[in-house]
Amino acid sequence: MSDDVELSIREVTGGSVLLATETLRLPIEIGRFGADNVGRISAGDGRVVHFGEGYGTLSRQHLTITPSGDGGLVVTDLSSNGVAQIGQEGSPPVPIGRGGTVRMAAGAMRAFETVGLRVTVCSPKEAQVDAIGQPLHLVYDSSSTGRLKALDLDGVSIALVASGSEVLMRRRKGRAAQALEDARGEGAQVLVMIGPDGAGGVEAICGMSDEVSHNRRMLDAGEAVPMDHLATLDIRGQLLRIMSAEEGKGLSCTNAECRQLNPYLPGENCRYCGQRLGDGTSYWVHS
Ligand SMILES: [Zn+2]
Repeated sequence: MSDDVELSIREVTGGSVLLATETLRLPIEIGRFGADNVGRISAGDGRVVHFGEGYGTLSRQHLTITPSGDGGLVVTDLSSNGVAQIGQEGSPPVPIGRGGTVRMAAGAMRAFETVGLRVTVCSPKEAQVDAIGQPLHLVYDSSSTGRLKALDLDGVSIALVASGSEVLMRRRKGRAAQALEDARGEGAQVLVMIGPDGAGGVEAICGMSDEVSHNRRMLDAGEAVPMDHLATLDIRGQLLRIMSAEEGKGLSCTNAECRQLNPYLPGENCRYCGQRLGDGTSYWVHS
């Protein structure tokens, strides 16, 4: 469950950015502060962020964003001058009403307008992988079930084997190179073997050309690539990501053509495809 919100603020007229996308700890309160009527955001971890000044029409307590308890957010209008939710293109903004709330599901993004400000709120979506006690492990992103599963790589390798049009996952003892040789000796059509490289790291060895990509680059048969934290293998649409328990989480790009993991860069762009991250539909993978 997320304890954070991603927030940005622009001026409605002219569109100048008052607050570039920031990840802030819930609950947060937006209001004005001091004689200069500075815009102020206070976050749940005690952090305070200021934006602009001269916002006399902003209430001292204008808007709050709190966790909804089910992974989403609740936006509450406490203002004197009103907050309106921006609807679909062409439809007029809908006033929340003082004391009124808007609930946002995890992964949702909404924009609100109030006293000349446009506030964009994203509820980060999270995908939790159960810890398995291994410092380095694979995360299997099953597109059919939508669930993430951690795979142990301690002394074992994982083979992706073609069986007709299906791809089967098989666990094999030993380092990747040995496991690949063994599996081939048994006549298996190995697409890729991922496992220990014998030097403390993890590698992926491609079994067949034009079947497997590593960080969006197609591999040739026999090619071995290191699997570092957040590296992604795509095997006929099935994703295997390497995660380090120590380094924690990655932000998954939601561009359907990409789906690569990125380090913590909300508000920046995917390092592979350039799509904006932290747009409310990106999701965290934790392990
Ligand atoms: Zn991307």
